[in-house]
Amino acid sequence: MGKHNPERAMTEIRREFGEHGGVCPCISRSSTFTVMEPDTMPEIFEGLRGPDKGGCFLYSRHFNPTVDVLARSLAAMEGSEFAACTGSGMAAISCTLLQLCHTGSHIVASDTIYGGTHAFLKDTLPQMGVETSFVDPSDTEAFEKAIRPETKVLYTEVLANPTLKMADIPALSKIAKAHNLTLIVDNTFTPLIFSPIALGADIVVYSMTKFINGASDVIAGSVCASKDFILQLMDLHTGRIMLLGPTMDPRTAFDISQRLPHLPLRMREHSRRALAIAKHLEELGAPVQYPGLPANKHHDRFKAQMNEEFGFGGMLTLDCKTTEKANALMSHLQNKENFGYIAVSLGYFDTLISCSGSSTSSEIPVEDQAKMGLSPGLLRIAIGYTGDLADRLSQVERAVKAVGLV
Ligand SMILES: *Cc1c(COP(=O)(O)O)cnc(C)c1O
Repeated sequence: MGKHNPERAMTEIRREFGEHGGVCPCISRSSTFTVMEPDTMPEIFEGLRGPDKGGCFLYSRHFNPTVDVLARSLAAMEGSEFAACTGSGMAAISCTLLQLCHTGSHIVASDTIYGGTHAFLKDTLPQMGVETSFVDPSDTEAFEKAIRPETKVLYTEVLANPTLKMADIPALSKIAKAHNLTLIVDNTFTPLIFSPIALGADIVVYSMTKFINGASDVIAGSVCASKDFILQLMDLHTGRIMLLGPTMDPRTAFDISQRLPHLPLRMREHSRRALAIAKHLEELGAPVQYPGLPANKHHDRFKAQMNEEFGFGGMLTLDCKTTEKANALMSHLQNKENFGYIAVSLGYFDTLISCSGSSTSSEIPVEDQAKMGLSPGLLRIAIGYTGDLADRLSQVERAVKAVGLV
């Protein structure tokens, strides 16, 4: 199998021009669509004439032309057959899991995942009779050992949030195939850097709120999968996106479509700066973790799976050990050095800094945080690409020295 080249694939699909030949596509905001001949309406409802079959659109909770433009670009980027867009990353994740799991089903999931996903698996799905076993994402054998006869899904992030542990996607794919399971991968931290479908994943989910949109001004998600699975999600009788209704607004789809073409440029620059800052912190003796540093435990596994031209991503961590020290460093970085903002989320053009244990991972009980190797003083830093890089290196150096981290 040749390596998937996401950047090439994104330009190979049919260009969508605007109504008057505009270089931007138009925004099709209609909630409903005219049927020219009355006898086509029943055929549309039977699924015989939908846009997937070259036919017409029906209603925008089902398919919408502008949302479709974005979905096609995402499918090309991921190398998946089809894609669907949703109103949030959590909608993409929860609808996908609810489509695949029913009362009595079992899931094996990474224990180091986004807090909302963890809460959904640990607290919400059990109320519907779906149980999850949590395992270390870097321990492939642990996934296999946790499989039961009723297991339906293996679930992981490639680069774990926030401990930056790496999952071995090709190995997990082999296990999933051997046991007839669906491997779902959340690639939110590493779009373009990893192409999980080419590595053997069945379904890729995204929070497009982060790097893909890149401007921290919309909440959005997507599911990239086979055509068959996306049509299941959109089924008029049992489709979880169609019936639970977390639809993407066409205006949001347009905004993201206009930013997707420069995602490759942005990812390269996030990676270049994060590597420079991580190296500088390492030289200063700071407790930095970044997958691009050869000393990082997961460096080799990352390299084996990455699309090299996009680098090692924009996420690094600094373990300040205690919440007090983490807070002092965040405050210094924001208020004295103007290095970035104390805020959750990631993938913005400015740097965002948060203390995971007391923010995005706070849904995870403290005992479980300790088990997954999440220290209460772990700062997650999502490196942006604004400002002069040499200034950034001086700012971070002054800050870690001021709080006594080095
Ligand atoms: C933010 C995030 C989500 C949730 O996405 P929303 O768009 O906020 O619903 C899921 N997974 C990861 C890895 C995230 O960072």
